[in-house]
Amino acid sequence: MIRIENLHKRFQKNRVLSGVNLNIRDKGIYAILGPNGSGKTTLIKSILGMVLPNMGEINVLGSNNKGDWTYREKIDYLPQIANFPSNLKVQELIHMIKDLRGASSNRDQELIELFAVESFLDKKIGNLSGGTKQKVNIILAFMFDSPILILDEPTTGLDPVSLIHLKELIQKEKAKGKTILITSHIMSFVEEVSDEIVFLLEGNIHFKGTISELKEKTKEENFEKAIAQILIRKDV
Ligand code: ADP
Repeated sequence: MIRIENLHKRFQKNRVLSGVNLNIRDKGIYAILGPNGSGKTTLIKSILGMVLPNMGEINVLGSNNKGDWTYREKIDYLPQIANFPSNLKVQELIHMIKDLRGASSNRDQELIELFAVESFLDKKIGNLSGGTKQKVNIILAFMFDSPILILDEPTTGLDPVSLIHLKELIQKEKAKGKTILITSHIMSFVEEVSDEIVFLLEGNIHFKGTISELKEKTKEENFEKAIAQILIRKDV
């Protein structure tokens, strides 16, 4: 599905990724974790072709992403900070994204209903609350049914009901056979939804495995404490 080999990225003198190797072969939900500034977004953006690595190979669904960007059609992406034009109405934005992607979608209506966004369709993006903006962001990301889904902090600003809908939606997408990468600071969410975690630290992947493997390795039953152990011991 996604194969990353020897990925290096630095911004000026700041080495962010130093030889990351990651092979995601199966469908499922993978949480990309790590402290602030550890390179999670840089890794995700490298997969998306939004950040150009200094060295290394990235293969997505069999195609090498160097120079040929068509592979990006197979990825749906929920950005952490979605800066949509504030003057556009929600409905206009949904149409615009459909036009830009050039892909057919008949899921928007279902998603609009699921997240109760009907009454906001005629409102300008700039006038929406943070939570409603995030619901629109989610609708745009889930509209196209691509085999790979990348969600950067998907729970931001969501009310409890929307959070339940999001979790159900993620599980439904997984059941369809998709590969889903998620970053989140909410450990209870990560523990509930993810099959595996990939922990970035100091430019490399420090741990990759299931949550039970992590708990076993750290001898910690509590997930948050097990994560903290990676940071404290660094030899996990
Ligand atoms: P995370 O998502 O884990 O918090 P990021 O990938 O956003 O980490 O950032 C990793 C490091 O790279 C940080 O030190 C950040 O300041 C730096 N960085 C990220 N993007 C850029 C950029 N476009 N230009 C310069 N530095 C950047």
